[in-house]
Amino acid sequence: MTLAETRSLSDLQATLWDVVVIGAGVAGSVAAREAARAGHRVLLVDKRHFPRRKVCGACLNEVALDVLDQIGLREAITSLAGPRLTGFHLRCGSRSIHVPLPGGLAISREILDATLIRAAIAEGVEFLPDVIARIGPDHPTTRVVRLQRKGHESAVHARAIIVASGLDGLSLSESGEWTTRVVASSRVGAGCVIEESSADYAPGTIWMGTGSGGYAGLVRVEDGRLNVAGAFDREYLRRHGSPGVATQCLLEKSGFPVPKQLLTAEWQGTVPLTRTTTPVASRRVFLIGDAAGYVEPFTGEGMAWGLLTARQVTHWVGQAVSQSQWSPEMEIGWKRDYRRLVQTRQRFCRVWTRMLRSQSLTSMAMSAFAAWPWLTRQIIERVNSHREQGKLADECKS
Ligand SMILES: Cc1cc2nc3c(=O)[nH]c(=O)nc-3n(C[C@H](O)[C@H](O)[C@H](O)COP(=O)(O)OP(=O)(O)OC[C@H]3O[C@@H](n4cnc5c(N)ncnc54)[C@H](O)[C@@H]3O)c2cc1C
Repeated sequence: MTLAETRSLSDLQATLWDVVVIGAGVAGSVAAREAARAGHRVLLVDKRHFPRRKVCGACLNEVALDVLDQIGLREAITSLAGPRLTGFHLRCGSRSIHVPLPGGLAISREILDATLIRAAIAEGVEFLPDVIARIGPDHPTTRVVRLQRKGHESAVHARAIIVASGLDGLSLSESGEWTTRVVASSRVGAGCVIEESSADYAPGTIWMGTGSGGYAGLVRVEDGRLNVAGAFDREYLRRHGSPGVATQCLLEKSGFPVPKQLLTAEWQGTVPLTRTTTPVASRRVFLIGDAAGYVEPFTGEGMAWGLLTARQVTHWVGQAVSQSQWSPEMEIGWKRDYRRLVQTRQRFCRVWTRMLRSQSLTSMAMSAFAAWPWLTRQIIERVNSHREQGKLADECKS
């Protein structure tokens, strides 16, 4: 059932908002909820209607679940009955490895994101879907957000703005304050959800095929459907004509069965994935989640990064709401927290994705994993470890 707006567009202008959040994905809806729990008056806007699909591997790792636990949402998400993840099965040509992957959960983005928005609304957040938002000019004590819906335009003022608009740069496009650097060789993402209930691709495992042109991961979600998501070289996609055919080719080459509806499914694509946008804070605006930067999804951490930044930004948003003047301290503070929480991990992820581009290096790595299981455990711990994230979050608080 579509999530209804809680305030109409024509009804918004009269309110001075403490916080406006642009984008109601995982990062935006959690940031909005946290801001409301801190006592702020919050408006959450998104250009789409919800529930909506989104290209994503649909796997929440242990770090993500830990953040949800700390903010009191773990139960709400685990009760959605997404299969618990216990393993990761990787194939490249004739090689394959199966490694244990403790602690994760697979949930479709339709259900996950709608649940998080409902949780935000329950804390008093006002929600407005189907509206394109853009950052406008700043005034001494507020900043403007322009809202647009099918020819109807409106503008609201806020003391703090959180940009959680994912890879779409439109919300930042007007002011000229931000620069997005996209890595030239960056892959693009594509995904679909398939209604098929064969015995292939058992629930609880991430099944991933990788080859020279990209990789694709398949996982069963809460209702047994098969979530398919991959990252591909742009040339590889062009050569194959469609993401369905590209994925089919990749699966066949890695010896995976091809789901019957792969070619007829409704595919979605993304812009090039590996990018950074700077500055992450500027004149009452804070960037979180993919809007601040993203790398290819091989290690499956994107939602964890979004949730970590959503929780952590609350402190700086509180400062911006309570202080009439924007101070460089807030800009420096959020930049420092963001670097500590996310950028170091993104560097690690970048190394992996670079290595995966070489078939021979991937094969060597798979042989090493098979020979030395402790190495695999170390890497999973690095990607998935909530202990390390907890340490970082504590450091950011101090
Ligand atoms: C192929 C692939 C596989 C992935 N697999 C995984 C995985 O298994 N696990 C994992 O943790 N991560 C994975 N990710 C990454 C994950 O999907 C993202 O990191 C995560 O969705 C980021 O959340 P977000 O809230 O920042 O952005 P999003 O979830 O993209 O949400 C942004 C929202 O902003 C809205 N929006 C955009 N512009 C505007 C505007 N101007 N006005 C109003 N609204 C706007 C959009 O409609 C959207 O709803 C994967 C990504 C890809 C591409």
